[in-house]
Amino acid sequence: GLGLKVDYASELNPDQLMAATTIEGKVLVIAGAGSGKTKTLTYRTSYLLENGVSPKEILLLTFTRKAANEIKDRAKSLLASSLSNQELSDEELAEDKLPTDKALNSITSGTFHSFCNMLLRQYSGLLGINPRFTILDTGDSEDAIDLVHKEKKYPAQTKSQAFPRKKTLQNIISTSRNRRIQIRDLIESNYPDIAVHIPIIEQLAVDFHEYKRANHLYDFDDIISQVVRHLKTNDTFRQLLQSQYRYIMVDEYQDTNIPQKQLIDLICEPESVSLMVVGDDNQSIYAFRGANYENILLFGETYPNAKLIKLEQNYRSSPSVLNYINALSAQITLGYQKQLYSDAPIEGHKPVFRRLSDEPKEAGYITDKIVALKPEYDYNDFAVLCRTSFQSNYVQLEFMARNIPFIVVGGIKFIERRHIKDVLAFVKILYNPNDTIAWHRILTLFKGVGAVTATRLTQAITADNNAFESLLAAPFSKKSDQLEPLYHALTKAQQAESVETAIEHILEFYIPVLKLIEENWRERTEDFRVLKNLATEHTTLDSFLENLALDPPNDSVAVMGNLDNGQDSSNDKVTISTIHSAKGLEWPVVFVNSLVDGITPHHRSLDDFEALEEERKLFYVACSRAKTQLYLTAPNYFSSYSGYFDKPSRFIAELSADEVTVETTRRTMIEDDDPIWW
Ligand code: ATP
Ligand code: MG
Repeated sequence: GLGLKVDYASELNPDQLMAATTIEGKVLVIAGAGSGKTKTLTYRTSYLLENGVSPKEILLLTFTRKAANEIKDRAKSLLASSLSNQELSDEELAEDKLPTDKALNSITSGTFHSFCNMLLRQYSGLLGINPRFTILDTGDSEDAIDLVHKEKKYPAQTKSQAFPRKKTLQNIISTSRNRRIQIRDLIESNYPDIAVHIPIIEQLAVDFHEYKRANHLYDFDDIISQVVRHLKTNDTFRQLLQSQYRYIMVDEYQDTNIPQKQLIDLICEPESVSLMVVGDDNQSIYAFRGANYENILLFGETYPNAKLIKLEQNYRSSPSVLNYINALSAQITLGYQKQLYSDAPIEGHKPVFRRLSDEPKEAGYITDKIVALKPEYDYNDFAVLCRTSFQSNYVQLEFMARNIPFIVVGGIKFIERRHIKDVLAFVKILYNPNDTIAWHRILTLFKGVGAVTATRLTQAITADNNAFESLLAAPFSKKSDQLEPLYHALTKAQQAESVETAIEHILEFYIPVLKLIEENWRERTEDFRVLKNLATEHTTLDSFLENLALDPPNDSVAVMGNLDNGQDSSNDKVTISTIHSAKGLEWPVVFVNSLVDGITPHHRSLDDFEALEEERKLFYVACSRAKTQLYLTAPNYFSSYSGYFDKPSRFIAELSADEVTVETTRRTMIEDDDPIWW
């Protein structure tokens, strides 16, 4: 071991201590929000290292790579501070100044996707697969499904029921795989409107799969399910991993899906592999990605000798806030019941519910509160949590108008933006000149090239193994003004000596094209700075592409409004985030907005028990991020293409006045028949 001594017993409560120091066997830690699950993982990591476990034997799986790095960073500083407490001699220090850095860096950590991607590339020889595969993100998969659909001329479809769009198709195919439900059953129960298309969709799913295999493409689901398949069928591979990863830890276990659980179970089959999963079934909010909170409930069945540890003390929230989130969690009917307690001495502020006449007023209220509280807090201490990124528009506008610095997390993802996807399509072609999806995307950028022409050209270009030269011979009337410049740009980029320069060459070609198709092209080019910056961190195209697909930057500067352009270099900013992206995090003051029935809970969930339950969990996740103050706000009405909503969220109306203060200013706002005004 490292021979250090962190004082675990004084930093952790007895249950946490038990979890951090039980290092063999299978352990499930189940506990509500803010009870120190992630903190326990951090201490367990340092405890393992102190007790002679090699960092190479540790596998740490989390929901984002950032979360994994945070656990490692904290474990690192823990070890470093205990190191400095020990008054090491100069020689000892000189010998190995920072054993902790080295140790922590060789821990395998990240998301399920990044871990599996790494395995597929590292063991490609053993598994007999081509290591030069390309990863399709969700949008790419949709495009690929669309391509296959157009290419295969399926028998004519009935006009009475419209054929679903590519987004729905991708969703159906992915859900069917992640939940292990036949496409037919899934459509019959969840999409009865399109039942007549079942045979075609089933065929399309098969053809899509073959298409991916033929072109060395892996979508997010494939990355994991391929590893699971190899673990099942390849004994050498399985045994290799079982002896390599002897200590496995998983945070946010409630959000794993069936393939992810299988992956863990296959590696953890031998007694000798130690596994600790931590989670809160009340916080499972990824059912739409196939996550299955029952994985937590099934843990004891899978591992009959497993130890169950419950953490019941909450350290995050003040008693008044905790009282409210306990009441919320009692409304969640499925799963373990948990009541958290706090021994914090000061009761604190009761959560406040406030209804405003419209969305701009709601944004104004939030901003006023921040301005009023600011003297006591930093901007960093505030977060505004929204159901989806669309609910943050007015807040962003108000912040800009009143010079409140902010960052937006979890909105339109950086790599989901059109112009970023376009540029990445060029990079993908440099990496794999036969990437048909990328070609298709690029060709449709040209004026007058529709899907049909693009498909025809793509086929011609990728027919043999010299795609770039084929551009010059392609059967296309506007070859000289479009394909020839493209050829020159690609060849130049291909010869570039760095990823960054390659991107610069691509941009020289692409920005004039973008100008013709997007009015706000100038704002969009801001994102290219981010892209080039990221490129400088990579020496090869594949590591660059892989990193972007698996661990993309969270947000797009161009949609953030206040561009992070050097003038505003301070890191003290209010966070505006979707609830999904706020998982695991905490802030002293939290605002949750748009609490209108139809938005939260979402109108599509209202008559589906399980969907409504998930909305409730989402609201629980939002509220449980708050440490000292929680503000819940709702505009009087909300009007969008999906409907007109004017009742406050039922999640608030369900609770009693004991838990929440309903704030009003003008009595005229009160409506007698409104359930919220108890
Ligand atoms: P979530 O369910 O939201 O992910 P969690 O259970 O992972 O929450 P943590 O984020 O680990 O909880 O901890 C919540 C807060 O409580 C953190 O600020 C953490 O430092 C603090 N905390 C946890 N355990 C203790 C403890 N024993 N003593 C003091 N503070 C603690
Ligand atoms: Mg946590």
